[in-house]
Amino acid sequence: MIDEQFVQVKNLRKVYDNGHEALKDVSFSVKKGDLVCLLGPSGCGKTTMLNMLAGLLDPTSGDILFNGKSVVKVAPKDRQIGYVFQNYALYPHMTVLQNVMFPLTVGKNKRSKAEAEKVAKKYMEITQITELANQKPGNLSGGQQQRVAIARALVQEPQILLMDEPLSNLDARLRLKIREEIRSLVKRVGITTLFVTHDQEEALSIGDKIILFNNGVIQQDDVGQNFYLEPNNYFVANFVGNPVIDNFAVKIADGKISGSDFEIPLAALDQDRIKGELTPGEYTLSVRPENILPSEQGHFTAKISDVELIGRERILKFDHDGIQARSLVNLETTIQRGDQVQLSMRLDRIFLFTKEGTRVY
Ligand code: ATP
Repeated sequence: MIDEQFVQVKNLRKVYDNGHEALKDVSFSVKKGDLVCLLGPSGCGKTTMLNMLAGLLDPTSGDILFNGKSVVKVAPKDRQIGYVFQNYALYPHMTVLQNVMFPLTVGKNKRSKAEAEKVAKKYMEITQITELANQKPGNLSGGQQQRVAIARALVQEPQILLMDEPLSNLDARLRLKIREEIRSLVKRVGITTLFVTHDQEEALSIGDKIILFNNGVIQQDDVGQNFYLEPNNYFVANFVGNPVIDNFAVKIADGKISGSDFEIPLAALDQDRIKGELTPGEYTLSVRPENILPSEQGHFTAKISDVELIGRERILKFDHDGIQARSLVNLETTIQRGDQVQLSMRLDRIFLFTKEGTRVY
C-alpha cells in the first residue's frame, strides 16, 4: 500500500559535534508526487535536513519514514534517493551519456552496458538532452548541465528526488525558465521531490507547498498563498513578499491601535481575524505594500521620497516614523517624488504581531 504521506519526518533533531543544534524537533510530511520547497535564510538548516533524508548525515534523534518505513538505519545507497547537488557534480572527463549512465554501471544497481544505455537514453529524452550525448560537461551551458544532473539523478528511478539549490549557478532569466522546466519534469515523471532554496519567489512559483525554516525550526508548512495571506508569525510575514512588508510600531490602549500618526479603533478590525486577546501594550502592525494605497481619506499622510518602476507596477517609497515603507501602485499613477499623499490600509489585510513575533491579528 502506498502511504499518502510518502515522506514523514518526526521530531527530528540534529546537533553537530561542536554542539550546534542545526535542527530542533522538526516534523513534517510530504505527499506522494508532490514538489515541496524547503525554504529559509542561509544557515537555517535546509541542507542539514536534505542530507539526513539522503542518509549522508545521521539524526541525533527522531525518525524519517519513506512510504511508512523508517529509513534512519538504511544506508544512503539503499534509500532509493536521487540527489541533485548545487554544483551538479558532473564528471568532466565523461560524455553526457556516460555521466547519465554512470549510476547504472556501478554497485548493486549495475546493469549490462546495453541496458544502462537504454535507460539513460530514456531519461535524456525526458530532460531534452539527447542531442548532447557526446558532449563533455565543460562544453555545456549551466542550464544544460543542470538537465544532465537531473537525468543522472533519475536513471536509478529513485522514489524521492532531492535538489539542493539547483538553480543558484544560473543567471536570472535562465533560473525562471529552468524552474518551470523542473516543475513540469518532476510532475511528468511523478516523482516526490524536495527542493531546497533560499529564494522565496522560486519556492512560491514551483512548490505544491513550502516549508519555511528559521534557526532550525519550522516557521510555517503551508501552500504558497498562505505565506502572504496568513503568515504564522513576524518572521514569515517579513521573509515572504517582494517588495517586503511594511512594519509600523504601534500601541494598543483604550480600545484603539495608535501609530505615530494614525489611530484605528479595535472595533474597526475584522473581528473574525482576531487570534488572541488584544491586550494593551506594544505591537508591530504589518501591512503588505499592495494593501496600503493612496486614497482620499487615508490613515495618515506621507511624503513620497522615491518612485520605483518594477515591471507592471510602481513602488511609492515613503518615510514613516524614521523607517522606509512602501506602497505598491499601478503603473499609471501620476504620483511623483515629493508629493504628499494620504495612505489607507486595508484593515482586513493588516497583521498585528507581539514583540515576540506572535501573530494576534
Ligand atoms: P545555506 O543556505 O547557507 O546552505 P542551510 O540552511 O542549508 O544554509 P545548513 O548547511 O543546514 O544550513 O546549516 C545549518 C547550521 O548548522 C548552520 O548554522 C551551519 O553553520 C551549521 N553547520 C552545518 N554543518 C555543520 C557541521 N558539520 N558542524 C557544525 N555546524 C554545522
